[in-house]
Amino acid sequence: MNAPLTPQAALAADALAPRRVFNFSPGPSTMPQSVLEQAAAEMLDYRGCGVSVLEMSHRSAAFEDILARAEQDLRDLLAIPAAFKVLFMQGGAIGQNAIVPMNLVARRPGRAIDVVVTGEWSRKSWTEAQRYGDVALAASTLGAAHDHIPDPAGWALRQDASYVHLCSNETVHGVEFQTLPDLRALGSEAPLVVDASSNIASRTIDWTRAALVFAGAQKNLGPSGITVVIVREDLLGHALPTCPSVFDYRVTAEQRSMLNTPPTYPIYLLGLMLQWLKGEGGVPAIEQRNRAKSDRLYAAIDGSGGFYRNPVAPADRSRMNVPFVMPSEALTDRFVAEAEAAGLSSLRGHKSVGGLRASIYNAMPEAGVEALVAFMHDFQRRHG
Ligand code: PMP
Repeated sequence: MNAPLTPQAALAADALAPRRVFNFSPGPSTMPQSVLEQAAAEMLDYRGCGVSVLEMSHRSAAFEDILARAEQDLRDLLAIPAAFKVLFMQGGAIGQNAIVPMNLVARRPGRAIDVVVTGEWSRKSWTEAQRYGDVALAASTLGAAHDHIPDPAGWALRQDASYVHLCSNETVHGVEFQTLPDLRALGSEAPLVVDASSNIASRTIDWTRAALVFAGAQKNLGPSGITVVIVREDLLGHALPTCPSVFDYRVTAEQRSMLNTPPTYPIYLLGLMLQWLKGEGGVPAIEQRNRAKSDRLYAAIDGSGGFYRNPVAPADRSRMNVPFVMPSEALTDRFVAEAEAAGLSSLRGHKSVGGLRASIYNAMPEAGVEALVAFMHDFQRRHG
């Protein structure tokens, strides 16, 4: 039996314990402590291999197994149908803003791309796509401060579009599609491309509506350096001749994401995150928790008598990124500083919009949201 710690030993142990704050960073973002601990425990010797995953050949049986498991776990968690390929790519979601048009624009002779702009990230996709095709705005909130999702019934969709692009959750503006639009019901046969970087695996995806979903992993799925692309098979094989082979979806699928050396360690960490998600009850369970966390935070904002304000139409509010503003710049600065001191980290809003933003992805525990809400009440009592 272990002897009880002396007070001195307890103090020393406490001083050595890592200081973990509640990290509200928009990405890279908080990861479950158990995932980090497992990665640390396996750092020097991965499951008896005698080497770290960092040192392992991507052609080794051990890494092949890590890759295959990550794909299968993602398929299980997101209920991905067999007709979709899962690709692990590099270049981030920003890279996909070019890689998607390079692969899909030539599907139709007119090279038409319809884009729905609802915030900073779809605006970037819209701009980049203009280098590859005849791009039109199907709908946009450019003139409305990106504070809502435009009703799909009013979208201008072209019959001959190679694809339609939208961002399912706008990380900066905090606007989220609660359901994906049914393009066929709107009279369009074009495939729907979804940038789900900041809400993938936070809720279920309707695969009868989405034809291609991409996401940088560094919010809900682990570390930066790995981009997940889930693409319906019939969209493969249309890449422009100038598309680099390593960005060609068909080649990537044929080579099982190993045309070149993949980001092995990020894929391993992604795999640990997926295992964690399964252990938490999978996507439906995490979705319920995400709804409870965001409801709690929005209720605190809306119940503050205007001291804290969220500008987004309630029906379109993000469950992942909650932006809010305060009565003055000085109070905002003070809030950020006091929150940091209280162990509530990275709450400053994106520089383009200012204010505050709490990113509460899958790995943010309910206790983190409770601590933030308690801090907000206390701050308002002292400064309101
Ligand atoms: N799309 C969305 C919705 C994002 O939130 C981000 C990153 N914050 C990006 C694209 C860009 O991702 P990356 O930096 O991985 O290229």
